[in-house]
Amino acid sequence: MRTLLLIVLSLTAMAVAGLTGCTRGEQQASTKLQVVTTLFPLFDFARIIAGERAEVTMLLPPGMEPHSFEPKPNDIIRISKSGLFIYTSRYMEPWAETILKGTDRRSLRVVDAGQGVSYLKGSAEVGHDHAGHGDHGTDDHAAGMDPHIWLDFSNAVVIVNNILTGFVAADPANAPLYRDNAAALNARLADLDRRYREGLSSCASRTFLHGGHYTFGYLARRYGLEYRSLSGISSESEPSAAKMAAMVRQIRSSGVRYLFAEELLSPRLTETLAGEAGVEVLKLHGAHNLGKDDVQRGIGFIELMEQNLANLQKGLACRSK
Ligand SMILES: [Zn+2]
Repeated sequence: MRTLLLIVLSLTAMAVAGLTGCTRGEQQASTKLQVVTTLFPLFDFARIIAGERAEVTMLLPPGMEPHSFEPKPNDIIRISKSGLFIYTSRYMEPWAETILKGTDRRSLRVVDAGQGVSYLKGSAEVGHDHAGHGDHGTDDHAAGMDPHIWLDFSNAVVIVNNILTGFVAADPANAPLYRDNAAALNARLADLDRRYREGLSSCASRTFLHGGHYTFGYLARRYGLEYRSLSGISSESEPSAAKMAAMVRQIRSSGVRYLFAEELLSPRLTETLAGEAGVEVLKLHGAHNLGKDDVQRGIGFIELMEQNLANLQKGLACRSK
């Protein structure tokens, strides 16, 4: 009898808990903060900060080339209906400021994730004698600013803090949780930075050549590496025959054993160049966007960067620590 009573009581308790849990869940689903992000690093950081309290989506479809991306009318509606819109910078998404002029800024909060980052100028394409950072260009608004700020992990921490500020302003009730999640993420990014610094500290080569567009300037500068790419900051233009010949010469003269390939383009061009120069190809992921497979696997920014570190260590013949 006593056992039966206990079972009835616990069943009732479970039913009540289930009911209230369900009601609360539905309420949360309808009132959750809606967050729209552009590039993958912003999406990944925002979903980690959000936990279960906000709904984070990414504007770029899987595999979409990010530099030539322009939002369609549907995308603009999606942004204007959200509570928080996060973009990288005016150098990466020059369209953002234009479309934001037409939105209601009382209901939509906006995060320029690159605010406070010191941007680098220029690129280091093969065949340019005076390539490098900060030595040319005077207009701060020039298209020549390197937008790939997330590949310096101290910048990634700045980005996380900017995103956190946006979450706290848009949904102050959940601020403590957002702060905790952001702090844990920043600790992981600091650890990643430390592993890169140690992992790339003693390598046979300090030069890495890249058969893609100029993506890894921030990473190279942070860890004291030399970096040359086949194309400029944006991947829109096809490299010329002269550029490709210059890359083959550079591979031969620098004595590197690997050519790095970028993630979203066909590897054929890099493979041809590498074959011509007699070296092998390794992948280096710029993390702008994910392909379909990586989306399905639910891969994170930090995992991508761990794969990059392993490939850089192999390509530069580093002593692993
Ligand atoms: Zn890029």
